[in-house]
Amino acid sequence: MRVAVVHNDSKPSVELAKEFFKKCKKAYIQIDEENPQLVVTIGGDGTLLSAFHKYQHLLNTVRFVGIHTGHLGFYTDWRDYELDELFESLKRDEGESVSYPLLDVRVEYENEKESETFIALNEAVLKKFDGTMVCEIFVKGELFETFRGDGVCVSTPTGSTGISKSLGGAVIHPRTEAIQLTEMASLNNRVYRTLSSPMIIAKDEWIVIKPIQGDGLILSVDNLTFPNRKIKKIIYRIARERVHFARYRHTHFWNRVENSFIGALNRDEKNFQEHS
Ligand code: NAP
Repeated sequence: MRVAVVHNDSKPSVELAKEFFKKCKKAYIQIDEENPQLVVTIGGDGTLLSAFHKYQHLLNTVRFVGIHTGHLGFYTDWRDYELDELFESLKRDEGESVSYPLLDVRVEYENEKESETFIALNEAVLKKFDGTMVCEIFVKGELFETFRGDGVCVSTPTGSTGISKSLGGAVIHPRTEAIQLTEMASLNNRVYRTLSSPMIIAKDEWIVIKPIQGDGLILSVDNLTFPNRKIKKIIYRIARERVHFARYRHTHFWNRVENSFIGALNRDEKNFQEHS
């Protein structure tokens, strides 16, 4: 198997990467940064996002596996102290995998013939440098609302626990094939009226956003930012491509959610109830 490693710059991640390379050498596992079949990330969910974009051109053939050097993450199944266990699974690898939907973001620019397509693992956020952004939002070809506010976010199911959740979006099980639109501080008055709640649209539907003024906008796709181009419209839909993760063991999605967002508080309450 050809393996690539992507790690962040923190000391624990750098040390773990060194240990990982040593183990690969000993087990005759080939390191191939150019054309890997498995990408191992060492860091956090953010590191996995970076690795995703680095190897986005290989999405049909590559699988990802994440080691977290902090708490357990959403894209990271392994903790730093489980390196030996992960390595044993890797040696016995039989191609086990799980795949999740991605977001296709097609951007058309003013005065440019060519459109540009991005693939997001978490989400795409459109907002303005300063002032409020005004745009028309279409769902499945029909005008749905005129939005005025800080910006809008369209996320994948796996991205629903990222910024989308901070914007009041629902947490979506990653097996659900849907995309979610959340608003950032919408203005609601006699002129501008929005739904003011998150929307989850089905897999055969799509969202189009047409800014009234295309300049001064910032588009971010996961951890990447693209400012300074005059945007005519953006079309969001579920991508044809999917992301594949090497699934050597299963962590229940809702356990992961509980662990990340409720955690100690919930356990304290359970103890309190048991002892009262
Ligand atoms: P960052 O600002 O350095 O870190 C953002 C945080 O979001 C990190 O704690 C990261 O986890 C976590 N995260 C990333 N993807 C997640 C997911 N799918 N579910 C739950 N948590 C997730 O930025 P970054 O590391 O480059 O990551 C970019 C992502 O951060 C964006 O795609 C966006 O979803 C998220 N973000 C969230 C907010 C917010 O909630 N207000 C604001 C900006 C960005 P790790 O610590 O494990 O890396």
